[in-house]
Amino acid sequence: MIDTHAHLDFADFDLDRDSLIKKCARDGITIINPGTDFTTSKNAVDLAQDYENIYASVGLHPENIEYSFSKKRDVILEKDFDFKKYYELAKSKKVLAIGEAGLDFWKQPKGIEKRKTFQSKQKEIFLKQIDLAEDLNLPLIIHCRNAFDELFDILKQRKTRGVIHCFTGNLEQSQRFLDLGYYLGINGIIFKLDLTDVIKVCPMERILLETDCPFLSPPGFEQRNSPLALPIIASKIADVKNMTINDVVQVTEINAKNLFNC
Ligand SMILES: [Zn+2]
Repeated sequence: MIDTHAHLDFADFDLDRDSLIKKCARDGITIINPGTDFTTSKNAVDLAQDYENIYASVGLHPENIEYSFSKKRDVILEKDFDFKKYYELAKSKKVLAIGEAGLDFWKQPKGIEKRKTFQSKQKEIFLKQIDLAEDLNLPLIIHCRNAFDELFDILKQRKTRGVIHCFTGNLEQSQRFLDLGYYLGINGIIFKLDLTDVIKVCPMERILLETDCPFLSPPGFEQRNSPLALPIIASKIADVKNMTINDVVQVTEINAKNLFNC
């Protein structure tokens, strides 16, 4: 089974990271750990070098780009996408994708001008990461919130492949991404948001299993999400698709291997 989106480098796992990763290995779980800025991308690469069952992806998440209105958090917000730095990191062994990168228009600054700058900066930085993916012939791990139409307008002009991770768009939007050849990443958000129609219509060959841990823990699982919650998500997909959990696990594993070449 492959968790195509887990942030095991995050501090939430500081106390038991090693034992959790080893337990995943014993349970046959392989993990793709995307970075969200340069530091976490580097940490993801280091982690992938330490454990056989971990692969990394490097990228700059739209929330970690610096804007005039940003409230400082514990991360250093990046002013721009440093192509060279990420390029070098992306050439490391076990890096199999670029991301997570994309558009997040959920929280936007007030005022038309500020909003315009905010959106164009995100697009500009996303385009640079698409260039990087194309240069290295790697798929994209895409984060998108409240910006599916804008995302589609960008992707339709490019020849990249990848996954729309944690897909939360509507049925029509999902069809447009599938037509472009993209995969949909499905995680525990399906217990909060009704994505039944999207999952029902999406060909099984285009679904990827993910947890997005430590976030989005499914009901009945511990508060901190982990790759061990994958069977709960697989079981919900199995219900919607009228398949066995085993078949869902098997097909989604082949899908991940096809996209990420792992
Ligand atoms: Zn993520």
